[in-house]
Amino acid sequence: MGLPSHVEYLIIGAGVHGLSTAYHLAKYLRAQGRQPDILVIEKTGIAAGASGVACGNVRCNYFQEPMTRLMMHCMDIWEADPDLLAYNSVGYLTASFAPMRPGLEAIHQRHQSLGYPSTLVVGPQAVNRYLKGIFWDWQAEGIEAVLHEHRGGYAWSRQAIHGLAIKAENRDARIVIGPTVTGFQFNTAGEVTTVETDLGNIQVGHVIVGVGPWIDQLWQMLELPGEVPDPHHPGQLTRLWRYLALQEGEIDVNPYLHISNDGRRPPVLHVDSDVPLYSEAGRLIWDKPWGIYVKRDKHTVQGGAVPKEVGDDCRLEPYGSRSPYYCVGDDFYDLWVASLAHCLKRYEGARRFASRRPSGGVGAFSVDNFPVFDFMRPNVYVIADSNHGFKMIGVGEQVARLLTGQRADLLEPFRFQRFAEAKALPKSNAPFPWM
Ligand SMILES: Cc1cc2nc3c(=O)[nH]c(=O)nc-3n(C[C@H](O)[C@H](O)[C@H](O)COP(=O)(O)OP(=O)(O)OC[C@H]3O[C@@H](n4cnc5c(N)ncnc54)[C@H](O)[C@@H]3O)c2cc1C
Repeated sequence: MGLPSHVEYLIIGAGVHGLSTAYHLAKYLRAQGRQPDILVIEKTGIAAGASGVACGNVRCNYFQEPMTRLMMHCMDIWEADPDLLAYNSVGYLTASFAPMRPGLEAIHQRHQSLGYPSTLVVGPQAVNRYLKGIFWDWQAEGIEAVLHEHRGGYAWSRQAIHGLAIKAENRDARIVIGPTVTGFQFNTAGEVTTVETDLGNIQVGHVIVGVGPWIDQLWQMLELPGEVPDPHHPGQLTRLWRYLALQEGEIDVNPYLHISNDGRRPPVLHVDSDVPLYSEAGRLIWDKPWGIYVKRDKHTVQGGAVPKEVGDDCRLEPYGSRSPYYCVGDDFYDLWVASLAHCLKRYEGARRFASRRPSGGVGAFSVDNFPVFDFMRPNVYVIADSNHGFKMIGVGEQVARLLTGQRADLLEPFRFQRFAEAKALPKSNAPFPWM
């Protein structure tokens, strides 16, 4: 399909946000008796960005109430079509050391008040009993609290995004693979009138930007401010976007090694601790707080660890290579497999099975680590999720509401003006930037 000269709704990026917006927008326009005129343009391919490499974890254990409410909404969408969205509703279990206990207690309380099913277990002995009830070989000491979400789980990421594309096209949204957006033309009111691509220009009514790690590039093309008031140092400005490498990998073992006592697929397991980790040869690998997660994948066991600062040099990586792939190295596998063996005896000796395939990816994080969801020009809506976002399939639904004249209260706390108004969301003391 060639590019049309005009489209009412132009969506840039065929990841979770672009495609979820396309699907929901088409659905709501039809409900209003309007013919959808929606085009998704994507430079590389469906699921070519972060959405296609994500571990695919879906959870609701967020310290901040607006995140919890938004994730509950997202969970409804995952659960409504588990087949096409390749969603595995196995639950999500977080096991944490003492400093995290108050945070998990607060999240559990909120879960209860919002009607979200989760179990809280506290105290090392009770925690040990609970975990041994799921994993016969649980052996980590020093775990103070468990929060077990009975909803949540994970989706097969590439499959899920292709499923979303099918849903969008079934509703008459169009998807064109190939064009790279290279610039915008504006009118005197500051609206985008024309989107420039390497395959030609398109006149537009509205633009929706869902470009994942490439956000800073589009942000600059839209001539938006690259610096914002620093939420941590009042009175100073700071750069809005920075990059972290999301460290994820696989061990090439029989995936059924990752099984629970009842013979089923276990919940996604997430562990935070500060117990030092040693290699199989007894070498000290890590003596600071660490956080890891693990799940059964299709052919392997997959998971990740705390992301790594990659500095300014890495800024060009997602742009230069047209892909956010980032190859994790030995240091990641040393830590991750040692932490698995520390928790579950079955992983002792598994270091040699660490995969050599490229995995992990670069993420663009905002300065307060929370998403920016907002109209950044009168007719341009930006979905920049600060890397929270594979699970955030419901953001596109909310954006579609806004674009069809409905309310979308769940997105309100994530507006760009929060930086100028110094309305930061509360920070948890987790070792991850996304809790
Ligand atoms: C390794 C890794 C693991 C992760 N694990 C999880 C997880 O388990 N759970 C979770 O919730 N989140 C996870 N995330 C975060 C999540 O993947 C992202 O937040 C989310 O997928 C972003 O979706 P998106 O639609 O904004 O962007 P993307 O999926 O990156 O899609 C953006 C698309 O825009 C296209 N594009 C970019 N620039 C242009 C241009 N100029 N012209 C045309 N097209 C363009 C790209 O080719 C790309 O296909 C992970 C991220 C990474 C990197």
